[in-house]
Amino acid sequence: MRVINFNAGPAGLPLPALERAREELLDFQGSGMSIMEHSHRGKQYDAVHEETIALLTRLLGIPDTHQVLFLTGGASQQFAQVPLNFLRPGESADYLMTGVWSEKALDEAKLLGQARIAATTVQPDKKYTRVPRQDELQLDPRAAYVHITSNNTIYGTQWHAWPDVGDVPLVADMSSDFLWKPLDVSRFAFIYAGAQKNLGPSGVLIAVVRKDFIARGRQDISKIFRYGLHAENNSLYNTPPTLAIYLCRNVLAWAEQLGGLPALERRNREKGELLYGALDRMSGFYRAPVERASRSYMNVVFHLPTPELDDAFVAATTRSGMVGLKGHRSAGGIRASLYNAVSPDDVRALVSFMEEFARKNG
Ligand code: PMP
Repeated sequence: MRVINFNAGPAGLPLPALERAREELLDFQGSGMSIMEHSHRGKQYDAVHEETIALLTRLLGIPDTHQVLFLTGGASQQFAQVPLNFLRPGESADYLMTGVWSEKALDEAKLLGQARIAATTVQPDKKYTRVPRQDELQLDPRAAYVHITSNNTIYGTQWHAWPDVGDVPLVADMSSDFLWKPLDVSRFAFIYAGAQKNLGPSGVLIAVVRKDFIARGRQDISKIFRYGLHAENNSLYNTPPTLAIYLCRNVLAWAEQLGGLPALERRNREKGELLYGALDRMSGFYRAPVERASRSYMNVVFHLPTPELDDAFVAATTRSGMVGLKGHRSAGGIRASLYNAVSPDDVRALVSFMEEFARKNG
């Protein structure tokens, strides 16, 4: 029996995507071998590669100005690769600080060049409970780019209106909320997201990049780190993570069948409203630290009255077939990650568990 999976990433995958992988595992489309045993230059894998790109392009409405890339090294490698490509000596980049992941991105940029904090919502206790407002941004109009983390997986905050950065290229780490709802890709010069939350397993990173921005990247860096080279080779410069890309294909096909991103948005909003609604109703017992306007629909963070009750809650949920609810070590408390594969019924099950737990322990 499958558990209800609230893991923060790697996260649960939609059952139909896994079942399709099981069906095709030993003999992919009559070829007598699995997709991961095929050459990345053969026609079977090529069709999967192209279908995955086509699905992403249709779901997001990616315009001709932009292109999909499959990269490796996770989002963490992008923290370094973005400044390596786009931050030249004498230039500066702006970072909007909203949590642990933006701190890591900033640290990597500082190793390579000049990086400025253009806004931060860090509190004296080093935690974050909201994203900055537009009037708090101190942007440098000459910056090489502005970097944001669209959703803060650890503290449970999310940007609900994109910052206005003028003509400066906007770069976004969307690892934990990519594909949660429709997105105007044209606002971004560079989007990157590890697959392991909303669109597949770990091992592949999806980037959606503006072609003219990529073309301006540095040419005097190691070839393997040049985005331009991966773009020219349609992400086949070297061997891509074929199995991970294949699994993304299955998840994206499921998303399309469900009704695409508008349907996913309705489903994700319903889940968020169910859980935040419960937290607000039971605010005498559960405490949600994030400011309302910054609440994340992907990672819902809350605390019980004591750390001991947090632990008891996690232990009891596990016994009830719900996993992944322990908060990140730097935030504590509880975190329920409600990525695309989590259903509204899964959240209803959690909410009724919470009601009973509060009744017994409140
Ligand atoms: N950015 C965000 C927003 C994340 O949530 C994570 C991982 N949880 C990362 C970056 C790092 O991703 P990876 O482990 O794939 O390098």
